Amino acid sequence: MSWNILGHETAVNFLQTHSHPETIRHAYLITGAEGVGRETLAIAFIKAVNCLYPPAKGEFCGECLPCRQIEAQAYSDLSILRVPEGARELKIEQIRAMQQTLALAPYQSRYRIVLIPDFQRATLGASNALLKSLEEPPARAILILTADARESLLETIASRCEVLRLRPMSIDDLTVELQAKHHLTPDEARKLAQLAGGRVGTALRFLRDEELLEKHTNALDMLEELLKQNLGGRIKQVEKLQRAKGQARETYAFLIATWLTFWRDVLICCEASDVPLVNLAQEELIRRAAANLNPQSVAKILKKHEEGLTLLDQYVNPRLILENLLLKLPRLEA
Ligand SMILES: [Zn+2]
Repeated sequence: MSWNILGHETAVNFLQTHSHPETIRHAYLITGAEGVGRETLAIAFIKAVNCLYPPAKGEFCGECLPCRQIEAQAYSDLSILRVPEGARELKIEQIRAMQQTLALAPYQSRYRIVLIPDFQRATLGASNALLKSLEEPPARAILILTADARESLLETIASRCEVLRLRPMSIDDLTVELQAKHHLTPDEARKLAQLAGGRVGTALRFLRDEELLEKHTNALDMLEELLKQNLGGRIKQVEKLQRAKGQARETYAFLIATWLTFWRDVLICCEASDVPLVNLAQEELIRRAAANLNPQSVAKILKKHEEGLTLLDQYVNPRLILENLLLKLPRLEA
């Protein structure tokens, strides 16, 4: 395996055997938690499909022009369709524009490839529009979607894709890899693997950006505090936050998005699902919350967080959004 991807051996092997004209399919869906490495895997696959000098079948050289252009996301036959900055949804207009490109013959390679990360954020209109491309795929076009889970997409879409499900690595395996490849001490590696919940991408992001790691830890510590408090105490915390950070939307969006990952974990516990938890450092608190709540009420809390993020995008007063959210959280005694 030369894709240099940590973990995900099965998915890598599968895609390596698919990176030839005789085996390649029209559509792939890579699912898994944010930071697990979905996009990194997609990009490696795209290189393997387009590499001019593959050192072996299913491999890529990383040095030829297509390999370098794909790495830089500047390859003429690759379009990456993202949710626009500051928006929360992928819109139908974006899908339609992409479909016009997709209908053209490839420019320098065998295929036109479209990568759409986080397709769970597509509107229903956008999903239905994409379905057309899946039902009648243009010749020499390849679609690669990523999403948090297959269930977040229309089944009509998922069923038309080759689905690859990525799971976080075990903490032990990620610890070993981080130690070997990033020169960390065993303690440092284990701590990082745990904070990242076994998600390679998240671990590497934390490694590059210590500030992000600190913000993430602080956000979860703050939630733990808030859950112990009554409403009066919570309002005081929000006042304190506002004094320290002002009304910057990003601060509030980061908090709510981080807490969202916590409540997803609580839901996983409530439903006794075998999906691995993301916030392993908070496992005790997550299990305690799950023991006190039923799945319906956790789903409501998750929905409140999602609504909070949408309202932030609509420039509603951040403090008001946060206070409203805190009203809905249960109180968990220590
Ligand atoms: Zn190459």
